[in-house]
Amino acid sequence: MINVTRSELPALDEYVSYLTGIWKTHWLTNNGELVQELERRLADYLRVKNLAVVANGTLALQLAFKALKLTGEVITTPFTFAATTNALLWEGLQPVFADIDPETYNIAAPDVEAVITPRTSAILAVHVYGNPCDVDALQDVAARHGLPIIYDAAHAFGVEYQGKSVLEYGDISTMSFHATKVFQTIEGGAVITQTPEMLRDVELLRNFGIVSEEDVVAPGINAKMNEFEAAMGLCNLDRVNDERSRRKSIYEKYKMALSSIPGVQFQRLVASQYNYAYMPVRFSSAKVRDAVYDGLIVAGVKSRKYFCPLTTQFEYWRSRGGSRAGNVERAEAVAETILCLPIYSELAFQDVEHIADVTCKEAYACS
Ligand SMILES: *Cc1c(COP(=O)(O)O)cnc(C)c1O
Repeated sequence: MINVTRSELPALDEYVSYLTGIWKTHWLTNNGELVQELERRLADYLRVKNLAVVANGTLALQLAFKALKLTGEVITTPFTFAATTNALLWEGLQPVFADIDPETYNIAAPDVEAVITPRTSAILAVHVYGNPCDVDALQDVAARHGLPIIYDAAHAFGVEYQGKSVLEYGDISTMSFHATKVFQTIEGGAVITQTPEMLRDVELLRNFGIVSEEDVVAPGINAKMNEFEAAMGLCNLDRVNDERSRRKSIYEKYKMALSSIPGVQFQRLVASQYNYAYMPVRFSSAKVRDAVYDGLIVAGVKSRKYFCPLTTQFEYWRSRGGSRAGNVERAEAVAETILCLPIYSELAFQDVEHIADVTCKEAYACS
């Protein structure tokens, strides 16, 4: 079975050489040498100043909300992974959903502005599949209403917009280095802030709020990355550029092979430097999408209907009476027709061709 993704792993002996170091120091976690080295190298690679690595991308979001002292309502997108919405609810915040742009799949600034109330405390946007949000328009809305912006950049490793890191936009960006992401540390993530003061707050909050043996200044949590995860990250950082260029070739191969399908659409990419984290394809109807999904399974290929269902369609959300903002029709239309095909650097071109052939065959048979 070819899966939608496969975790990239370094050469085993390279990882073992880091393990040998850990066996010498007996230092397993708590801001160890490898975590510190990973933070320096990531800040350098991603071209950002203030970066803290954390245990995962969900805690990264929670730390961001805490550091910004959010209350009440947060405007966000339903076209995302469960963690974006769940993290808000876990922190006692009320998600208010705004619709997306039908071509970039990112939250649309005019829809954000339409649902701002006196209870709104922030905007939580997602760079969907790593494609940058309309950051200038969102900044404009945020500035006029005095709201901070948090970007869930879980998909946006190494992405640039207008020649600079996409992580430079907004007040805080969060990343996930989960095993299934472009850059992985097994479990892991990062918080990127605009100011060193905010970074200091995040660093305190990820370690219980401990400032010294004698004192704890905030009710923080345990969101620390450990040395084994940092070692995985250090190994993978050496190879990530090769991976990214290989993903680009796969993406382009798919796009070429699928573009003749009637009514097919690809995400409108706006990045100046992209990472090809996913291979989303939109079909002319839900019927075609589902036929392709089923046909691929028969052919031994597991694609995924990301992000279907929307977070507004989750059972727990529907049973609460649904979204206060309500109207997310464009997101619903994209969710019904989207399919993410397998993409990872070790996927053979021959397999890409096979997957594309099956996709075309099923789509034509259904149209
Ligand atoms: C993966 C992901 C997360 C959560 O990251 P974890 O590291 O798995 O906790 C958050 N948001 C989005 C959009 C994601 O894809």
